[in-house]
Amino acid sequence: MFPLKNLTKFCTKCRCISSHAEGLKLSEQSWNFINGTRCAGAGETSFQLFEPSTGSKLSTITDSNASDVDNAVSSARKTFKTWSRFSGMERAEILRNAGRLLRERSQDLAKTEVVDAGKPLWEAEWDIQTTYDCFEYFAGLSPTISGQHLKMSGENWAYTIRQPIGVVGAIGAWNFPLQIASWKIAPALASGNTVVFKPSPLTPINAVVLAEILKEAGLPDGALNIVQGQGETGQLICKHPGVNKITFTGSVPTGKLVSQTAAETLKRVTLELGGKSPLIIFEDADLKNAVNGAMMANYLTQGQVCNNATRVFVHESIHDQFVQLVSDELKKIKVGDPHSNDTTMGALISEDHLNKVLGYVQSAADEGAQVTGGKKLQVSGLPGGYFMEPCMLVGCTDNMKAVKEEIFGPVMSVLKFSTEEEVLERANNTHFGLAGGVFTQNLARGHRVAAALEGGVLWVNNYNTFSVELPFGGLKQSGYGRENGMAAIEHYTELKTVYVESGDVWTPYSTT
Ligand code: NDP
Repeated sequence: MFPLKNLTKFCTKCRCISSHAEGLKLSEQSWNFINGTRCAGAGETSFQLFEPSTGSKLSTITDSNASDVDNAVSSARKTFKTWSRFSGMERAEILRNAGRLLRERSQDLAKTEVVDAGKPLWEAEWDIQTTYDCFEYFAGLSPTISGQHLKMSGENWAYTIRQPIGVVGAIGAWNFPLQIASWKIAPALASGNTVVFKPSPLTPINAVVLAEILKEAGLPDGALNIVQGQGETGQLICKHPGVNKITFTGSVPTGKLVSQTAAETLKRVTLELGGKSPLIIFEDADLKNAVNGAMMANYLTQGQVCNNATRVFVHESIHDQFVQLVSDELKKIKVGDPHSNDTTMGALISEDHLNKVLGYVQSAADEGAQVTGGKKLQVSGLPGGYFMEPCMLVGCTDNMKAVKEEIFGPVMSVLKFSTEEEVLERANNTHFGLAGGVFTQNLARGHRVAAALEGGVLWVNNYNTFSVELPFGGLKQSGYGRENGMAAIEHYTELKTVYVESGDVWTPYSTT
């Protein structure tokens, strides 16, 4: 078992977990997990792992090359022959065990997620809860996967079989490392597939820990393999002829590359991509709740959430009041050490990403927006951390770069509107279609607007509440396919139709 206790022992001075903590040396660990065993990648390139809240280097990790991916796929193909024949109840028992182990170790896992992703501890704890919820939910669904039986004419009948697809290649982003992994791995395994998962190179740690937990839960070796690496390793998975389906979470441009490559072998593909979602606040909204909703829609995980509503359209009659209330709320956000219990916002994922987000804030200022916050922050005791002030942009127009493009940072753009018709037109005027929200006390209008907004996940009078029981995914260029809910099972299974004849075979050619 991976020594989690050591992994979460931090040096209190420099917060290094590689050289000061007892036991585990991250740099010496093998970061791949193939056929039930930790092993090192064999690529000639590598990437460095930094802790977002300190900027200190944690490890250097070797990229997986073609032979690593080949080994992982072969191991998954071999195990598919047995795992796909387990009954739903047998698979459920293992996934339930995994859920229990994840619950028992949730504190350690959350602390590791804080080191890896820079998000505050309270949020990481939340993410781990969504992870074990996911395993327990799909454990419950596994025995229910079934086909149909149909009576046909005469002595004919037919049935359908819902079967696993085969080997699933799964590629993840960095903002919710364990949650993204579980949203892919749990339904894929529950449906009888085997998996090769590549986490983001920015957050590689917990994927291997999860694989070890699943092994301890009883998962056969080879059913889940982890390969570390960068984009090239991802491409190797998408190209591999032994992979039958790709499930990808990441940006729109990478999603397009993934789908192009997967098309060469006609793999099934699910894409969970970026967004620039709208939140519409009408003049009759409960303003306190609308402000809270806008905060939830913009500042969780340092704003690095795909479905965040970063374009907040506020009716002109309440615009100034809304802006004042959000400014007051921004002052209450405590940016700081993500390991502290009272921190409400942690560090952005990397120095490059921080600079990219600050660049968007500057571009908005250059284009005439009034900027509140949005500066790089020095947190006491953590001089190397990638922190910034949460930001609100006021006086925005639809064509500003910061309003049109996904920033993926704690930056809310506020836009004024006058009529429902006008705001719907503007809200939908984007190639993204992941999510959206509306605040109004007129419920007929709330439902009308939810139906009209072009997004896969909508909220009426709230934002960013989630549950594994409900499907999640985007429209337009925010992707296709759905994760979570019963809908996910459809994306990890194929349907077969079987016709059965119990009587004689009729033919026009026979004379007797
Ligand atoms: P990227 O698209 O940059 O990367 C996603 C993953 O794909 C990484 O593991 C990356 O490795 C890998 N990758 C890069 N190039 C290729 C390639 N050519 N073929 C296969 N894999 C490749 O996204 P980020 O990791 O930066 O994540 C942020 C994005 O993810 C945002 O746009 C966000 O909206 C989206 N997202 C969507 C969610 C959803 O459910 N809709 C949820 C969470 C995030 P490497 O890092 O080395 O490039």
